[in-house]
Amino acid sequence: MTLGLDGTPAIDSLPAAERVLARADELARHSSMEDGIERVYLSPEHARVNAIAASWMREAGMHSWQDAAGNQCGRRSDDPEGMPALVLGSHLDTVPGAGRYDGILGVLVAIEVAERLEHVDLPFALEVVAFADEEGTRFGATLLGSRAFSGGWKSEWNELQDAEGTTLHDAALAFGLDPERIPLAARKPEDVVAYLEAHIEQGPSLERLDRALGVVTSIAAAERRLIRVVGESRHCATPWEIRRDALQGASEMILAIDQIARDHNSPATIGHISVEPDAVNVIPGLAEFSLDLRDATAEGRDMTWEAIRRRIREIALDRSLSVEIESTHAAPEMVCAPHLRESIAVGIRSTGDETPLDLFSVAGHDAMAVGELTDVAMLFVRCAGGISHHKDESVRLDDVAASIDAMHAAVLDVALRYSAGDADAPGLVP
Ligand SMILES: [Zn+2]
Repeated sequence: MTLGLDGTPAIDSLPAAERVLARADELARHSSMEDGIERVYLSPEHARVNAIAASWMREAGMHSWQDAAGNQCGRRSDDPEGMPALVLGSHLDTVPGAGRYDGILGVLVAIEVAERLEHVDLPFALEVVAFADEEGTRFGATLLGSRAFSGGWKSEWNELQDAEGTTLHDAALAFGLDPERIPLAARKPEDVVAYLEAHIEQGPSLERLDRALGVVTSIAAAERRLIRVVGESRHCATPWEIRRDALQGASEMILAIDQIARDHNSPATIGHISVEPDAVNVIPGLAEFSLDLRDATAEGRDMTWEAIRRRIREIALDRSLSVEIESTHAAPEMVCAPHLRESIAVGIRSTGDETPLDLFSVAGHDAMAVGELTDVAMLFVRCAGGISHHKDESVRLDDVAASIDAMHAAVLDVALRYSAGDADAPGLVP
């Protein structure tokens, strides 16, 4: 239930939530997989869902356009050109075998909020952005849509290739975009007031604590590494005492990493492993595995890594193995702006939850990229069992209704602070 700025009557949000769920079902039909959902950047499915989102944005009283990177944008029709905008959004692309709410829910909630605010006087323009690539499924690099929007596009990304060997350059041309003009999707900081994103939690904290919604404090600091354990390939007849088995060493390291990560509460995932020569009767001379390590802060992540690194060295020494470590990706935490977090909390309180829960996001989100452009904050929505990136992803109707109410109230709170020139919100002073 939402009250307006002046305590206007409550709105029945269930019909809007039903529409959000029906629209999520409709988008789920646009998939490159026969028995599952997959929608990647610059694909025919991407074009189709953009067109559908555009029609919904227009129904909500916005004009809509596809930007130079393939993000679908909408802006309230009455908002004057050149007026800085508060941007609401999330993404429409998916991983293979995806659920129907990761990213999508945030876009659909944003459209509902824009519709509610169609004729409301705000001190800024209101925009909705459906980002084109958050997951990075097709070209391996993530957040391509939101990084283009935020001015972080790198020209070398045009040479990235998908599994079929198609370059991003050629895929953009086939999609109808000019690959050389993608950087023009960049917004200027002075044109954006702030960015708010609703997203399913993708973890079980809200459900365990019996909450519908939560305030995101920060998006995790992450680092990915490739760890190569080098031993010696030998015939399986080689006696134990002279074996230098890289896979046995890697196995011990992997179990140790899991324990250290648990002790430090830094989520660690080893999602890739390969061995050489990869033959049933040969001792592996090489074992290579990936490590994705996250924490609420870069400092915490690095402390955990130090403990892991020491243990890896000990195991290698014990087993006469050598280890090569390569860092393949590192990102610091993205801290959500305190004044916007407070607006999200005001939004959650408007739904009847007096003590909104703070939680950090282990998963990456478009808000990380947009945080390079402007202040950001996120609203988390409970999802069943914390299941995500899976067809069983699900949300409750009443939670969706609450998320629309909370986001609506949060936008009104940002408007109040913006109009008041809130000293705690320097980014918001007009
Ligand atoms: Zn997502």
